[in-house]
Amino acid sequence: MIYAGNMSHLLSGLLKESELAIVAQIASAKRNLHGARFDTYIDKVIEVLKVKCPEVNKLTSPELRDVVAMVDVWGVESRGMMKMLTDTCTGCGWCCSQTSTVIVDLEDTERISRQLRKKRDELFVSDGKYWHIKRCCPCQWWNPRNGHCLIYHIRPSTCRWWPLQVNEYGQDTLHNATECNYSVMVLVYKVIGALQASEQVQ
Ligand code: SF4
Ligand code: SF4
Repeated sequence: MIYAGNMSHLLSGLLKESELAIVAQIASAKRNLHGARFDTYIDKVIEVLKVKCPEVNKLTSPELRDVVAMVDVWGVESRGMMKMLTDTCTGCGWCCSQTSTVIVDLEDTERISRQLRKKRDELFVSDGKYWHIKRCCPCQWWNPRNGHCLIYHIRPSTCRWWPLQVNEYGQDTLHNATECNYSVMVLVYKVIGALQASEQVQ
């Protein structure tokens, strides 16, 4: 799937013509990286979007898919949107209990090991490129009795920013996790904001 075709008229209030190709490239790269999982995520966002903002039904399906994929990696600032929509997290615990890999940075491994007075290799493992939490799915620090994180105040930066990630282009984007209501709803409202800015919807 290649994004970008003729989206300029839909996102004209948000994107300059010169930015369109860059955004399309970033969106396509994300789709190529995640494949069917990304498509499922976009489908889920569109399903909710049609309920929250029926005016999007005037767009064709390909147009809507392109807009959602492109706004994900651009558009209304993701971090600001996340702060506005913190209550969309249902506390389902999927992120801590079902994610198979949690990548952390070097500073996380040093800080958490020091605070817990453990050797780094007891808590984290390296694949040669990235450090990961050693026991995941569920995470070793997830408390299944109450769904809380046992190290919440010193949790890794990945967990602080979930469901946000920064891609190789340095753009904020959302994890394509259909199970995460937070991830879906943040993108739904980002798209509505983008279309309002472009005067495509009221
Ligand atoms: S460290 Fe805490 S917030 Fe991060 S995945 Fe584990 S339980 Fe969840
Ligand atoms: S998966 Fe998403 S909705 Fe569920 S607890 Fe994690 S952040 Fe909240």
